Amino acid sequence: MTAPPPQAPEPGLAAIPERVATVRSRIAAAAERAGRDPAEVTLVAVSKLHPSAAVRAAYGAGVADFGENYAQDLAAKAALLPEAHWHFVGRLQRNKAAVLIAVAALVHSLDSLPGAEALARRAMRAGTVARALVQVELERRAAAHGVPAADLEDFVAACRRVEGLELRGLMVMPAPVADPEEARPLFRRAVALSRRLDPGMRALSMGMTADYEVAVEEGSTLVRVGTAIFGPRMGSPMGSRMGSRPKKEGK
Ligand SMILES: *Cc1c(COP(=O)(O)O)cnc(C)c1O
Repeated sequence: MTAPPPQAPEPGLAAIPERVATVRSRIAAAAERAGRDPAEVTLVAVSKLHPSAAVRAAYGAGVADFGENYAQDLAAKAALLPEAHWHFVGRLQRNKAAVLIAVAALVHSLDSLPGAEALARRAMRAGTVARALVQVELERRAAAHGVPAADLEDFVAACRRVEGLELRGLMVMPAPVADPEEARPLFRRAVALSRRLDPGMRALSMGMTADYEVAVEEGSTLVRVGTAIFGPRMGSPMGSRMGSRPKKEGK
């Protein structure tokens, strides 16, 4: 009897540890250029539309934080790897609040008071608090999500009155740019907004594959990096920023 041949890792998976190392060293270099401590920056590996084997490969390479856009996928992957920290970075739907409270350490995309109330209500019921970032919209775009910058102060004040909700900071997601330098002015505006908030609310989720180094130079504390770690997303031939998905998640 011959032993089965050693299983070759799937080609996509084999590249993940090296990609993680590259992203980490670029984060560190960007932080150092800005006189920041690289330890201030958390790498959130956005694993949406990638299989859980890819998540495991990144976890094995030292990534402790993962982000997902769809509540169901978040729950499924978090169940397989509960020792990681799971972040929700997709559109917030109120009917998914219970799932998010059960598995997400941080919701990056809070952009409505009903959403805040739904999260808080579920959190209270579970004997915990909902930790969230306010997604701020700094550009005028047709398909924009997020609280307009002009309304941020009022929104934060309203959220303060919601028991069971703990705001940690802001999230921004610029429209795709050809040159990461184009995102810099917007990141600076996010930092300026962030500095006006309480010290407990200074987390800043900004920077994706195309622009995370610029984001770190400007003050990001959470970068959401997908493609640079996992490669192109399946079901996303256009390289959509939101990660288009063949089947729609129920409303
Ligand atoms: C998909 C996604 C990311 C990761 O995008 P990449 O360009 O692949 O790094 C980050 N943040 C959000 C909100 C996303 O939807």
